[in-house]
Amino acid sequence: TLNVKKLNKSFGTTSVFRDINFTANEGEFVTLLGPSGCGKSTLLRCLAGLTPVDSGEIFLANKNIVHQPVQERGIGMVFQSYALFPNMTVEKNVAFGLKMQKLPATEIRRRVSEALEMVELNEFSNRYPHQLSGGQCQRVALARSLVTRPALLLLDEPLSALDARIRRHLRDQIRLIQKELNLTTIFVTHDQEEALTLSDRIVLMNKGNIVQNGGAEELYTQPADLFAAGFIGNYN
Ligand code: ATP
Ligand code: MG
Repeated sequence: TLNVKKLNKSFGTTSVFRDINFTANEGEFVTLLGPSGCGKSTLLRCLAGLTPVDSGEIFLANKNIVHQPVQERGIGMVFQSYALFPNMTVEKNVAFGLKMQKLPATEIRRRVSEALEMVELNEFSNRYPHQLSGGQCQRVALARSLVTRPALLLLDEPLSALDARIRRHLRDQIRLIQKELNLTTIFVTHDQEEALTLSDRIVLMNKGNIVQNGGAEELYTQPADLFAAGFIGNYN
């Protein structure tokens, strides 16, 4: 369970988000939805520990991790751009996720193979990123996060660079894996349709504030305000 309490972040004098409170229960798939620039990526980076917060608390499994370094938080993250190492094979890229943990070589191989199987990429383990499609690269990035068996998975628009068909396929695959592992997941998107289809719950943001927090049906049928009504309603 993730519990975010009164989280604040500014860059200089510009506030990015204010007093953010929300929870993601164990195994829950929560989507952070909102327009470009509303603070979604910054919030995710703060949860991961890649960006320091100004104030507030982040509880993961009842432990306040807000001052813990990235490697100790037990969080996996996949970004919009795949950020794979170009000079490493698929297998090495995925194994890199385990580098911080001191594990025997056989255990590393076993876990890497297990993660690659989950994303259906076992046959590609010796390829280099430039020999893969965009969708395959994103599956490698996903495998690299899964291999560490994170307590929390953060996905920042991992599908946005992909074409519509691959996008639908991969999002269904992500959802299946997430359910199978009962993995608490925060998925960021500015795509209403994607949020409505995928999520257990949607946290709708606008200009650094949470506007509404509820199930897809609730957001669709009972939008909290005019912004929510417009943003949820106008998807195409
Ligand atoms: P998008 O949907 O376009 O990815 P977002 O909701 O992820 O948008 P953020 O990337 O979190 O938005 O940015 C929120 C605000 O914070 C923006 O106004 C952005 O310009 C600003 N911002 C982000 N990173 C920095 C930084 N390192 N320094 C200064 N301002 C920043
Ligand atoms: Mg973003």
